[in-house]
Amino acid sequence: MRYVSTRGRAPALDFEQAMMTGLARDGGLYLPEAMPMFSADEIARFEGLPYEEVARRVVRPFVGDSFSDTELREAVARAYAGFDHVARAPLVQLAPGHHLLELFHGPTLAFKDFAMQLIGQLFQLALARSGQRVTILGATSGDTGSAAIEAFKGLSNVDVFIMYPHGRVSEVQRRQMSTPADANVHALAVDGTFDDCQARLKDLFNDHDFRDAVGLAGVNSINWARVLAQIVYYFSAAVSLGAPHREVDFTVPTGNFGDVFAGSIARTMGLPIGKLVVATNQNDILHRALSGGEYRVGTARPSISPSMDIQVSSNFERALWLAYGQDGKAVSRLMEELQSGGFAISQGALQALRETYVSGRASEEETMAMIATIRAETGEVICPHTAVAVKVAREHLRPGVPMISLSTAHPAKFPDAVEAAIGIRPALPPHMADLFEREERITRIENDADAIKSLILERRTV
Ligand SMILES: *Cc1c(COP(=O)(O)O)cnc(C)c1O
Repeated sequence: MRYVSTRGRAPALDFEQAMMTGLARDGGLYLPEAMPMFSADEIARFEGLPYEEVARRVVRPFVGDSFSDTELREAVARAYAGFDHVARAPLVQLAPGHHLLELFHGPTLAFKDFAMQLIGQLFQLALARSGQRVTILGATSGDTGSAAIEAFKGLSNVDVFIMYPHGRVSEVQRRQMSTPADANVHALAVDGTFDDCQARLKDLFNDHDFRDAVGLAGVNSINWARVLAQIVYYFSAAVSLGAPHREVDFTVPTGNFGDVFAGSIARTMGLPIGKLVVATNQNDILHRALSGGEYRVGTARPSISPSMDIQVSSNFERALWLAYGQDGKAVSRLMEELQSGGFAISQGALQALRETYVSGRASEEETMAMIATIRAETGEVICPHTAVAVKVAREHLRPGVPMISLSTAHPAKFPDAVEAAIGIRPALPPHMADLFEREERITRIENDADAIKSLILERRTV
């Protein structure tokens, strides 16, 4: 399988190259040139299979010759062995016709582990083969960073540098990044917002001399392999509720558009997803774009669902590329317009987007209220991101069509917001119970590409 850039001016790559690179050299994002399809029979046979086997079957056609069947099977097995639920991504019923898909049973308690644990395994295979050393650089609004650190800490041929917005992640999120003692782990607190971190990340990747000098590799949700790993649970969940014989809807709490975009790929591959509901918090650029057709950047306002405090939603570029009929020139033009604040989506593209996505938003008050409602109605304690999804999902329920809301983090990652909503402070699971006693290591750094470059050159261990 060949991967092409959304901006149409970078060389086509195979799966391994696209994974190791992350961002394309023309600033674009990689996508498969053509999507593999599954027949209804093939999907029906997923029923009752272990999660790992569904993962192997879904991922297989995308990796081509990059990894053998055995390598892939073993990588998948190792990736999910550390999860503390045997179903990996269990469904919990919230109400008749409405289910939660719990994606927080991995080592860092958020759905990011699904992709990052698998990427960690595939990187190790690729690096062992090539003898290469890499510097992983990530920007995080909170959960990607810890998931990446967890997946790559202690590896001898990798350094991992994670930039997060200083003061804008939860204490649990910060400690998950700052407490691993491994010398190859570097947590950078940037004086800025998540969008600043993401912009600096792009600066460094677009500096090709620096990129080559340190072997820069990206594992942000712009990395195609991350999106790929997330396609799997759409299949496993939908099949559990009757697909392919029955349509299902999903609601996805959305920031960088990686998770919900993975759902759209599952749909393209033949999974009968009716609606994909994009749920945003008060940082609602995606809801405004999908409902009004204008993608206009505002300022990110800190919220109680910080992993979604995003204005420039990287993976939306992939959805635009598909909606514009894979026209790299058109996407390049839009991204240039974005430099000066935003763009209008063409009528045709907007129509194409609306065939797949609908959207809604939840305010801070609505999010808090939904945490309390779900507690009262079901006894379940949900995190604020999940509450955003549940609130928006309830506005999009359809008779006879099951709705699956993605539960993206464990409530104990956001204890302050949960406690404010229901008066109960959710406890961390046993493997993390001493998180607040562990020693922290953080480097505070200004929001400046050169400063970040110097630090990386100085701290690199490989
Ligand atoms: C990252 C994250 C999201 C948003 O996912 P995207 O793929 O960026 O849209 C939602 N909830 C939680 C808990 C997250 O960590």
